[in-house]
Formats: sequence, C-alpha cells, structure tokens
Amino acid sequence: MPDRARHMPRILVVEDEDHLAIGIKFNLEAEGFEVDTVGDGQAALNLLAATDPPFDLVILDLMLPGRSGYAVCEALRRQGNDVPVVMLTARTLVEDRIRGFDAGTDVYLQKPFDLDELISIVRSLLSRRRPAFRASGPVTSTPPLATATAEDPPAAGGTALYRFGSSEVNFDTWEARAQGSPVRLTNLEMKLLRYLVDHEGKVVSRNELLERVWGMARPPATRTIDTFMLNLRKYFEGDPSRPVHFLSVRGMGYRFVGRNTPAEPKSPLPKEDSTAG
Ligand code: CA
Repeated sequence: MPDRARHMPRILVVEDEDHLAIGIKFNLEAEGFEVDTVGDGQAALNLLAATDPPFDLVILDLMLPGRSGYAVCEALRRQGNDVPVVMLTARTLVEDRIRGFDAGTDVYLQKPFDLDELISIVRSLLSRRRPAFRASGPVTSTPPLATATAEDPPAAGGTALYRFGSSEVNFDTWEARAQGSPVRLTNLEMKLLRYLVDHEGKVVSRNELLERVWGMARPPATRTIDTFMLNLRKYFEGDPSRPVHFLSVRGMGYRFVGRNTPAEPKSPLPKEDSTAG
C-alpha cells in the first residue's frame, strides 16, 4: 500500500510582512508542505515550544518587531532545538552573515529572493535531516545527541587545511580565509566547497551536486547550484567575473581548480617568458 498517510513536513514561517508571509505559505502549501505563519519572534518561540510533533523547518525573517531573527535562532539553539533555519534578510553586510552563522542559521537567503530557490533550499534541508554536518561546525549550540558526532564525515583527504590560490579553508574548524580576510560560509556552502575540493580537477554536473551535496535525488531547480557557485566565486575569486578556481564547464557543470590540479597536459613547467603580459 502506498505510504500516503505519511506526515507532511511542517514549516513555520516567521515574517512580519503579511504579503510576504502569505506568498511563502501559499507556495509552500502548493508543494505539499504544512505551513504556519507568525509575525514576531516571541510568538514563534512560543509556538515552536508548544508544537508536537515539532516543526521540521523554520523560515525566519531577520528584521522582526521585538526579538530579531538572530535572537530567535540563538534562543532555539540554546534550547537544544536543532530545527533547520533559513534566515531571510535584506542585509548584505558580511558581519550579519557571520552573526547569523554563529546564531546557528543553516542557510541565508537575501531578499528579494526567488520562490523556486526558497523551495529548493527547503527541500534540501528537509532531505538531510541528520544534524551531523552542523555538529562539526563552530555553532554555539550543543549537539542534542552524542551520536551526531559519530556520523561526521572524515576530513577530506586526511588533511583539514586546504589552500588554493590566496585562499585557505580549514574543514575541521570551518574557518576560511580569502586574500587574508576571514570568510564565513553557510553549512551548505561549506559542504559544496568540500565536495568540489574532494573532486578537484574533475567536472561535476549540477545534478551530481544536487544529489551528493543537497541530497536531492530529483533536482527541482539546478539554478540553486549556480547561485551557490556565484557565492563561492564572490568569496574566493580575485575577480568573480573571471574565475580561475570555480570554473563553469559549458553544458556539463562545474570544475574546481585548486592546488593539486594538474597543469594542462601539454604545458611544461613555466619557462621565464617575458612575452606574458
Ligand atoms: Ca521583516
């Protein structure tokens, strides 16, 4: 008998702009999710604490009356609530991203956003329910279960610190630097970067990334990948419009070029060539 009676994922939308809350609810319900909305942070915390079975995911606006989205997220993590959180923000400052990351936000989505992208992110977060990835990150919340850490994947290639170009990433501490400045990645960005580094020099398709990084067997919107790749370029490329590390391979996907990528097959080690501009 088909398993149609399964519990549909239940999502809480915390957003004080009614039109936006209604739009998000409408679109998520069209995807089959159960959706509740509240307009302020305290109401959200009350509802999250009182609801059983618990919500599967929270879409949380940053700018809320009373308690901010940050404060709500921090309060949740302090309570040991590991529910995935998508933070909606109009802000673009790096410090805000860092603060959101420290507060335990899983994904940042900047307003105005594409509803398809939000739905893709929601699906991907719901599909990787285990908190293993977050448990290894520098998040201040305590992992709810000791077993979570046992599922952490081992560091890529046995070496946590990875350098490419003028960037370096520590996959143990989740610290990254580009041109000497710290860069904070979201969980998914870090996971994507790790996958690319693990497959350095190889072409990886968008579908492969969706399946292996996002955990989606049937990709709803490969555009999501492109958005994340643009973010990685912004963080790590000297000129994001002319990437040298995060390369597009037309009709195929992406290819990461790092420290271990073999040079072009025919090119010997560089001779001093004064004709190079
Ligand atoms: Ca707002």
